[in-house]
Amino acid sequence: MNISQEFDTIAAISTPLGTGGVGVVRISGDKSFEIAQKISKKENLPAGKICHGWIYNGNKKLDEVIILPFKAPHSYSGEDVIEIQCHGGIHVIQNILDTVLQNGVRMAERGEFTKRAFLNKRMDLSQAEAVDDLIHSKTSDFAIYSAKNLSGTLAKTIKELREEIFTVASRIVAGIDFPEDVAEPEYTYLIENFEKEISQIDKILIGAKSSDILRQGIKVAIVGRPNVGKSSLFNALLNINRAIVTDIAGTTRDVIKENIDMGIPVTLIDTAGIRKDESVDKVEEIGIEYSKQSAQEADLILFMYAANEGFTKEDKEIYEIIKDKKHIILANKIDLGGNKYTPQTIEISTVSNKGLEELKSEIKSTVLDMSSEDIEFVTNKRQQTCLIRCRESLDRALKAAQVNELQDMIYIDLKSALLALDEITGEVITDDILNNIFDHFCIGK
Ligand code: GDP
Repeated sequence: MNISQEFDTIAAISTPLGTGGVGVVRISGDKSFEIAQKISKKENLPAGKICHGWIYNGNKKLDEVIILPFKAPHSYSGEDVIEIQCHGGIHVIQNILDTVLQNGVRMAERGEFTKRAFLNKRMDLSQAEAVDDLIHSKTSDFAIYSAKNLSGTLAKTIKELREEIFTVASRIVAGIDFPEDVAEPEYTYLIENFEKEISQIDKILIGAKSSDILRQGIKVAIVGRPNVGKSSLFNALLNINRAIVTDIAGTTRDVIKENIDMGIPVTLIDTAGIRKDESVDKVEEIGIEYSKQSAQEADLILFMYAANEGFTKEDKEIYEIIKDKKHIILANKIDLGGNKYTPQTIEISTVSNKGLEELKSEIKSTVLDMSSEDIEFVTNKRQQTCLIRCRESLDRALKAAQVNELQDMIYIDLKSALLALDEITGEVITDDILNNIFDHFCIGK
C-alpha cells in the first residue's frame, strides 16, 4: 500500500484460524457501518454499544454474533471499525468474512489495520512495532517489555530527546538568522547539552544486545557422554516426557529440540551422547555427528557429567571438544553423591530437581550482558540503527562545539540527529521502510 493511497474499506479475520470459543472479523473504513447494518439486518448500530444479533447472507443465517461498532477516530485504526464476534469455527468465521467481502470490501493486507492506526496517528511507529513484538513474543517477560513500548515508553523518551535537540537547534538558527537581536548560544551550553543527549541515547542502547536475545532467543545444547542424564534434564526443564529416558547407553539417537520460556526464549537441544566406542552402530554415529554439530551451532552448551562417577577420562575428551564455546558445567546425579569439577560447576539432580532453578538463572545471566531487571528499553534493529546514527551526529556536533566550530556547521549535524529520531517514531518515513515493517505482521492485525 502506498502512503498516499486512498483508504478503502478492508476486512480480515483477526483471530487465529482454528477451533475456539470466539472468532473475530474486523472491518475498517468508511463503509464499515453500512455493510455491518446490511448483513446484520439492523437499522442502527450505535457506536460504543455492544449489539447482539445475527449475520445473514441474503436470507441465510450464518451465526449469532456480538457486533462492536467504533466510530472514527475512536477505534483501533482511527477509522470507522466494526468487529464481529462470532463462534470460533473455521468455516463459520470464513462464511462471515466472505459475506463481508461480497459487499465491496477488500481483504486487508498484512498489518494493514495497524498501519492505518499509524497513518491516522493513533500510534507512532515504535508503538506499531511493539504490537508486532507483543503478538510474537516468545516469553512472558518479552510480552511485558513489548506492552511497555506499546504504551509509549520508548516513543515518549524519543520525543523528549527530540525536544531537547530541537531547542538547541532553534537557538542556533535564531543566532544565525537574527545576529543583531539574538546572541548565538554559548559553546559551553552546546557541549553540556550534547553530552547529556549522548548519554541518554547510551542509556537506551545499553539494552540493545539483550533486546535481541530477549526477542529471538538462544540455542542451548545439552552435551555429555551417554547415560549421564541429558534426556532427564531435558525432560525436567520441559516438564514433559518428550525424550525417551532409559538406562541403556546411547538411547537418544536423534537431536530433539523444544522451545521453552526461561525468561529468555530458549531452544533446548538434547543431543545423543557423544561416545567413542567400537560398538557404536550407524544410527548412533549419525546421532553423535549431530551432537557435535549442535554443539557448534548452539549459543550455549550445558556440559553434563555424572557427579557420582566423577569427571572421567571420557568426560574430559568430550569437554575438550566444547570447552572453547560458552558453556556451563553440570554435575548431575548429585543425589548419589560426588563433587564439583570446578567451583562454578552447578550441582543438579533431575530426580530431586535440585539445582534446576539455579541453572535457569545461570543460563539467563550467562547470555544476557545485564540483568533483565536493569533493561529499561527493548529496541529492535531498525530503532537501534537510527539511534546509532543520531548518536554519531551528536558526537560530531559535540566535537565541533569543543573546538568552537562555526555554528552553521553544528546545525547540519543536529538536523541529521533529528532526522534519525524522526525515523524511529515514523515522523519521517519512506514507503519502502513502512512496507518492510508491516509485511512482517499477520493478516488481521
Ligand atoms: P542420557 O543418555 O545422558 O540422555 O541419560 P538419561 O537421561 O537417559 O539417564 C540415564 C539414567 O540416569 C536413567 O536411568 C535416569 O533415570 C538416570 N538419571 C538421570 N538423572 C539422574 C539423577 O539426577 N539422579 C539419579 N539418581 N539418576 C538419574
